[in-house]
Amino acid sequence: MIYRVVEFLRARRAFVMFSDWHLAANFSLPLPYRGRLAPSPTGFLHLGHARTFLLAQERARAAGGKLVLRVEDLDRERCRPEFRAALLEDLAWAGMAWDEGPFYQSERRDVYLSAWRRLAAMGLVYPCDCTRRDVLRAAGAPHAEEEAAEPIYPGTCRPAEARPREESSPDGRNWRFHTSAGEPIAFDDALAGPQAFTVGRDFGDFLAWRRDGVPAYELAVVSDDAAMDITEVVRGVDLLRSTARQILLYRALGHPPPAWCHAPLLTGPDGRRLAKRAGALSLREMRAVGMMVTEALAVAER
Ligand SMILES: [Zn+2]
Repeated sequence: MIYRVVEFLRARRAFVMFSDWHLAANFSLPLPYRGRLAPSPTGFLHLGHARTFLLAQERARAAGGKLVLRVEDLDRERCRPEFRAALLEDLAWAGMAWDEGPFYQSERRDVYLSAWRRLAAMGLVYPCDCTRRDVLRAAGAPHAEEEAAEPIYPGTCRPAEARPREESSPDGRNWRFHTSAGEPIAFDDALAGPQAFTVGRDFGDFLAWRRDGVPAYELAVVSDDAAMDITEVVRGVDLLRSTARQILLYRALGHPPPAWCHAPLLTGPDGRRLAKRAGALSLREMRAVGMMVTEALAVAER
């Protein structure tokens, strides 16, 4: 097993050196600094998570700030009790410490409902009964370059103009955020550099609430980061487009967005991102063979 780990780390052609980017990220720390760790119990934490969390911790410490632990467990189908139980243990084993939390998204429904109500009162969300298949069919193929890209919603259910909603609860239907095509979104990222997106070209009306009764990822994260006074979000570079959507929610809710720091993903020798197939790099298994996270990252830099 340990050979699988080492072998993986040595065959690191597409591997971004930890030391290079984490040093580069020491600039532009927002003060006061409040960061967060936001793991999801949909599997065991792996080295890629640990690397991003260590960066978040390093930045919080460098700024003399605080770190909040928030467990993102809204997805009832994918989150499992055994992963939830393993999470805190694995984080602690990886050397992570936090100042506040853990907070669980599954226990914060009121926070999300209040955000939904504010958007509904402004007419910025509307119900949409299209299935994912409907959207795919109407929108054509998603961006090929992005694995998990959502197709751009073609506006099938979007009202001609934004008007306040009378519904008292979002449950039972999907709700989309009413975007304005052509609106530019630009932000500076501490690691990824300047970013620019255009509404309608990079994404369209995205889900804010899901028919199964939970907020969509973007709304939950923005509601929480705002409520927890987070001043910098450190996460994987695969979420840049998501960040652009979240900035629209901050604008709509009248809350200043945090600073952003999107870290490179841990990739395999084939250049593809670390996923379930690379289970050898779960923190659980590394601990079982007596390999520390710092050791694993050091092997990668050799
Ligand atoms: Zn629809």
